Amino acid sequence: MKEGRSRSIRQGRNLPEVRADNLSVVIEALQKLQPIARSALAEATGLTAATITHMVNELEAFDLLVEVPSNERNVGRRPTLLSFNRKRGQLIGLEISRTRILAIRSDFSGQILARHEEPFQPTAQVAEGLAAVSGVIRRLIDPSLPLLGIGVGVPGPVNSTQGTVIEPPNFGGWRNVPLTALLRERFGVPCWLDDDAKAAAYGERWFGAGRHEETLLYISLRSGVGSGLIVGDRVYRGAHELAGEIGHTTIHVDGPLCECGNRGCLETLVSVPAIMQEARRLGVEAHSPAELHRRAVSGDLVAGNIKDRVYLYLGAALVNAVNHYDPAVIVLGGQLVRSWPDLIGTVAQRVKGRSFGYLSKDIRIVESALDSDAAALGAVAIARHNILQNPAAALQATEVQAVRAAEVQGSGTVKHLHT
Ligand SMILES: [Zn+2]
Repeated sequence: MKEGRSRSIRQGRNLPEVRADNLSVVIEALQKLQPIARSALAEATGLTAATITHMVNELEAFDLLVEVPSNERNVGRRPTLLSFNRKRGQLIGLEISRTRILAIRSDFSGQILARHEEPFQPTAQVAEGLAAVSGVIRRLIDPSLPLLGIGVGVPGPVNSTQGTVIEPPNFGGWRNVPLTALLRERFGVPCWLDDDAKAAAYGERWFGAGRHEETLLYISLRSGVGSGLIVGDRVYRGAHELAGEIGHTTIHVDGPLCECGNRGCLETLVSVPAIMQEARRLGVEAHSPAELHRRAVSGDLVAGNIKDRVYLYLGAALVNAVNHYDPAVIVLGGQLVRSWPDLIGTVAQRVKGRSFGYLSKDIRIVESALDSDAAALGAVAIARHNILQNPAAALQATEVQAVRAAEVQGSGTVKHLHT
């Protein structure tokens, strides 16, 4: 019904969404400044005292805050200070990749409480994969605390609205797996998912190299080139969840065929497999990107040329990205960034030199601060972000969920899988 309306009439932003944005601003400030008085919170966030009172009342109604008396006395009145209620509950953020399951448990403020990682190889037996994921969650949760929600980052493509893993390449044949519905059924709490690069973008935005930046572009350079574009604190998806797919910008119009159907995409030229294939083709003896880099810096001209071409392509793609999106910060992560230490500096110099000179001089191009934890931490942020959109629905009756989650032994889920 909503879809029908949205075809002809532009959709407005209702008060709950505006409120959710303000709640997120208040929470971010609290995270950084707690314990803090209401008046200081108003000053720090630029919100009026009345709005702060409203927001704080709302967070208190959900038992998310605790108040402690301040030691300072102002004209006889002792202000109370606000902090997050650590006992209110826990969030789980997961990254499910082709090689591992990484789970991070945090409180509502994003404070990390525990981390657990297990090797994982997806197979056509989706039920087994789900059992492994559930096992990791069960191992990680604290049964004495309510579980508030679960966020998941998985290889794309995904349908983030429906919470479905569509059909990631080399992912054991998973196809149209309604992952969030299956996890919700097992744990009785709201779940959300996104593709791993978009989750990592969220991670860097809230906990990493892009903290406090409203516009951020995250790019991971590894077996593929994933990306996530955050505009105004939200992942910008476009009409078909394709926005910001830097890996599929055209570099060579008649270049190699890409999985997406196009030719000469950035991914076909700078992904780790593409680079290593090029090295083999040109007879460079290197078994890893790090080895190729060592050869290049020690004077192997062919290896050096491969490296230079990669920087040239990356620089061109980033100049395009700057001209399209003008992010405050571009965060680069993944295996290639880790093994090629001069990548960021070289590429940054090219971008700053080419994209409208003085205008682009302030764009920060930096390395991921969270490394391989970015997607799981981002999944925590996704869960919290969604809870804030409708706290009443998400947080009600969570008191019993921790106990349930600890008790539930997965059953009755296999029949819903579409593999
Ligand atoms: Zn492509």
